Amino acid sequence: MNHIYKTFLTIILIAMTTPTFSQDPSGFDRINTSAGVVELHFVGHGSLMLKLNDYVIHVDPVRSSGSYDKLPKADLILVTHEHYDHLDTDLIGNLRKQETVMLTSEKAAGQVKWAKAMKAGEKNVVSDIIIEAVPAYNIINMRAPGQPFHPKGTGLGFVLTIGDMRFYIAGDTENIPEMKALKNIQVAFLPMNLPYTMTPEMVADAAMVFKPKILYPYHFGDTRTDEIIRLLKGTEIEVRIRNLK
Ligand code: ZN
Ligand code: ZN
Repeated sequence: MNHIYKTFLTIILIAMTTPTFSQDPSGFDRINTSAGVVELHFVGHGSLMLKLNDYVIHVDPVRSSGSYDKLPKADLILVTHEHYDHLDTDLIGNLRKQETVMLTSEKAAGQVKWAKAMKAGEKNVVSDIIIEAVPAYNIINMRAPGQPFHPKGTGLGFVLTIGDMRFYIAGDTENIPEMKALKNIQVAFLPMNLPYTMTPEMVADAAMVFKPKILYPYHFGDTRTDEIIRLLKGTEIEVRIRNLK
């Protein structure tokens, strides 16, 4: 075999074995709702951006999660709690426009003067989007005995109703009874890292009860994502792994 032919063959073999992208190379997913297409952008870790037409919702925008250089400013900012990987007051200042609304926990609202505080169980409607605050807390994982990483009554998750679709963004929580009691959730973001949130087993346990159609594990750090895929194999839940380490 001559040298040129050998090189050519090697190139073909490399091309054949390089995996194709499992994710839209543009980096976002589209969810159809009766109010229009919602784009889900995965900034990283607990940080997301949802876009409905030109309406921009930043969830837990934090610069340490990923780049905000190319992302638009916010119409709505949702912040689940005050931890540094969820609340970045500098970035929030940069994403703010005159008309931006921010909804967050009482503790986080203490750090952003213009934000509106919510308690779990409360509801707000902003530009036809219904935002329900739901509880987020630890039952098992503790900083020290009796001191959960996320004590009940401080942090939040959010359920967003956009048109006919309901999106659940859980915040930092475990598989608490309030999560399992959720109804009619199509898209769920559940946190999966230790010691702060859930193991894949805890994520699967909750998901199998409230049955979202699509599950995005997020906030997963070094947790193995193949484990959650294995645990939910054969169920009706579609697990989507995205850039949310
Ligand atoms: Zn936290
Ligand atoms: Zn966190």
